[in-house]
Amino acid sequence: MTTPNQERLLEVASLAKAFGGNRVLQDVNFSIGAGEIVGLLGPNGSGKSTLLNTITGFEAIDNGAVRYRGQEIGRLGAHRIVERGIARTFQLPSMPSMMSVMEVAMAAATTRHGLWETLCNGAGVRGAEAAARDKATRLLHELLLTHVRDLPASALSGGQKKLLGIVCALMGDPQMVMLDEPTAGVHPNLRNDIVQALKRLNRQGMTLVIVEHDMHFIREVCTRCIVLDRGHIVASCHPDELSSNERVLQAYLGGGAHQ
Ligand code: ADP
Ligand code: MG
Repeated sequence: MTTPNQERLLEVASLAKAFGGNRVLQDVNFSIGAGEIVGLLGPNGSGKSTLLNTITGFEAIDNGAVRYRGQEIGRLGAHRIVERGIARTFQLPSMPSMMSVMEVAMAAATTRHGLWETLCNGAGVRGAEAAARDKATRLLHELLLTHVRDLPASALSGGQKKLLGIVCALMGDPQMVMLDEPTAGVHPNLRNDIVQALKRLNRQGMTLVIVEHDMHFIREVCTRCIVLDRGHIVASCHPDELSSNERVLQAYLGGGAHQ
């Protein structure tokens, strides 16, 4: 699963993960180049979310290695991985009921070099808060949430929670964002806004890995696809090659490419 012509940002080698006797990821190998938008596809239960969870430190890996910018991160916890520059969103974001949308976005600035960097630079708590507020205001505007900024975050629709998840991921200025089904259950109008926002972020230099089922989205957004089936990678190809790739079709038809 090669990544030509680009700086290798992320390398996953022989990664394995089981829950009890359920071997969810087996010998997973791939790399992601700087500036790519990679779609991660596969049937339900094929291990997509688990792959994101292991790379971002929310689940411990059993075997293998994860390298980011050439450094091993496979055994770091989630907080340390965010600090390195990899952020993520969740398939089913849950939001605190006691905090407003703005407060949730600002709280996310405490990760990586949001609040802390500003504090270390001597701006003090007030300066740090102001910087976080400015950044949250800008990102809430870019992700179309300005009109709901004072509502409780838990009152947002499912699609708006996904947008807020993206805002939170961006608050720490990551180089890479891994998004778990950002458009699933999202109204078609909002879906197009998400597509545009992700393309804009990529033009600004951000590397994106997106778990997605919608083939239109994948063709429109992704520069490459990685296909998982029962915990194995069965294809890494350009989106246009998906329909002619027999292993992909087998995976989606439930035949399974690995017996
Ligand atoms: P996908 O995102 O591709 O739908 P998942 O990664 O969520 O798939 O799940 C893959 C398999 O791993 C499923 O069989 C699921 O039940 C199992 N699994 C995921 N997370 C856990 C967990 N925390 N504990 C036990 N089993 C899990
Ligand atoms: Mg999933």
